[in-house]
This record gives sequence, C-alpha cells and structure tokens, in this order.
Amino acid sequence: MVSFRPYRVRPGRRVRLREWDTSGTQVLGRTEGQCKELLGRYESELARLQELLYANHKPRLLVVLQGQDTAGKDSTIRRVFRTVNPQGVTVARFGPPTPEELAHDFLWRVYPKLPGAGEIAIFNRSHYEDVLNVRVHRLVGKKVIKQRYREIVEFERTLVQEGTTVVKFFLHIDAAEQARRFRDRFRDPTKHWKFSLADLAELPHWDEYRSAYEEVLERTSTREAPWYVVPSDHLWVRDTIVSGVLIRTLKDLHLEYPRLDPAVARAIRRAPWAIRGSRANR
Ligand code: AMP
Ligand code: MG
Repeated sequence: MVSFRPYRVRPGRRVRLREWDTSGTQVLGRTEGQCKELLGRYESELARLQELLYANHKPRLLVVLQGQDTAGKDSTIRRVFRTVNPQGVTVARFGPPTPEELAHDFLWRVYPKLPGAGEIAIFNRSHYEDVLNVRVHRLVGKKVIKQRYREIVEFERTLVQEGTTVVKFFLHIDAAEQARRFRDRFRDPTKHWKFSLADLAELPHWDEYRSAYEEVLERTSTREAPWYVVPSDHLWVRDTIVSGVLIRTLKDLHLEYPRLDPAVARAIRRAPWAIRGSRANR
C-alpha cells in the first residue's frame, strides 16, 4: 500500500503552502498509468468498505473538502465516490449563510448535515468557511477567529469521541493553475454555469486565502481529525491520494460483516419456507 503520510499535516506543524508541491507526481512515485490502475482497484475497495460501514450501521465518516475555487471539490466528489452506493452517502454544500443561519452560532447549520450511523457525509466546503471566507472579508475580528479554531477542534474531538471518524482534505493548486482553469471554463460554454460574480470577487484575495488556509491547517490538524494537503494539479494524483486516504481510514475501523442476529437465525430455522420459497410454491 502506498503511504499517504507525507500529505498529512502533523499537529502543530508550521505550514507554508509554497513548500507543499501541487503536482504530487514525485512524492507518489508512480506514473499516470500506474496510478490509474491503482485507482481502479481503489474504486472497488472503497465500494466494499462503504458497504461494510453501511452494514454495520454504527460508525460514521465525515469527509471535509476545502480548497480555493477551481481546486476540484466537485470533481473529487463525482469521481472518487462514483462506485459507492448512494444510499449510504450524503453530500452537503455550504454557501453564504442564510439570515436564519446567521442568527445562530456558526456550527448550528452543520449539525443536521453530519453523518448518521453507517453513513458517509461529504462536506463540499464546511464550517471552515467561517474561519476562511469570513476572515478574508473581515466579517469578524481576529479574536473571534482564534476562538473559532478552538471551537472547531473541540467540536471535531467530540464528534470523534461519539463515533464519527473525521478526515479533511485541502485540495492544493497554485495561482497559475487556478488562472488556467478559469480560462478553460470561460472558453467552454458548458462550464459557464459554474461562474458567479461572487467567485470573481474572491480572485483578488488569493494571498489572503492562502495565509488563512495556512493558519487553519496549523491550528486545526489534530490526531483525531487530520488535514491532508492534496496536490491537485493532476486529477489522477488527487483522486489517488483522496481515495487512498479514505480506504486507509475505513480499514482502520476494522469492520466486518455483522453476524446474523441469533433471534433471526432461530426464526429462520423454525420457518424454513421463508428462505426456500413460500409454502404455496412448494
Ligand atoms: P460554491 O462552493 O462555488 O457554491 O461557492 C460557495 C460560496 O459560499 C463560496 O464563495 C464560499 O466562500 C461562500 N461561503 C460558504 N460558507 C460561507 C460562510 N460561512 N460565510 C461566508 N461565505 C461562505
Ligand atoms: Mg464556485
């Protein structure tokens, strides 16, 4: 198995994103062809592990996806999870808060979107926007941001203690790659729906987002709820790392298929027609 440790942010470690590679081809040490072959195996493995999670109906998995515009949050969801059973997976997007959400604390809107027993919940953006967007646009002061880091760490710790596994991905691209992706989008009429004035308003804030992300990664990557910085210039690198980390994370739960409930087993033995076909059919 490939090691995904190099992408994990060690708790308390200083993060300078310019020192983190965005291409990832070297660290992974595999060619595109090899990665694609690996991804094929990962897809069936992820489907199997998700079924196990669903069958156990107990542990829960929260997957947080963050990254600047065009980093690939949507396509990661579409591609990495294409083989899993949609019945056990939910996706929540977090956009600008509604007046009702603003009237509550910032974690309020997150609770209903958390995974239930046996479920995987994917967050396309998350509570982290409340220390990113909100910070860059100076909607709250520095003190509040610092307080929120502590609240987030505490919130995620509670989730983990209560049986939710938390894994967080920062999809890492650089400014040049973002510009390239925006240009491609602009040239392709089938992608125009992805543009909004709000996206354009974010562009001049690239550097501020960068430092906001660095601080988030430094302050909120914990042993219980780690951040992974995923080189995202190449879709196949990104998908390999995200899938690989998810597989490792799910394997660490050591799940097995639940045994037949003894009461159900007894009932089946007493009613053999139930599994052999109804009486009428015999
Ligand atoms: P998208 O993911 O492209 O639909 O964009 C959603 C937009 O909502 C992004 O610009 C986010 O920064 C913004 N957003 C999400 N959560 C918040 C929040 N809590 N406060 C302010 N803006 C937010
Ligand atoms: Mg967008």
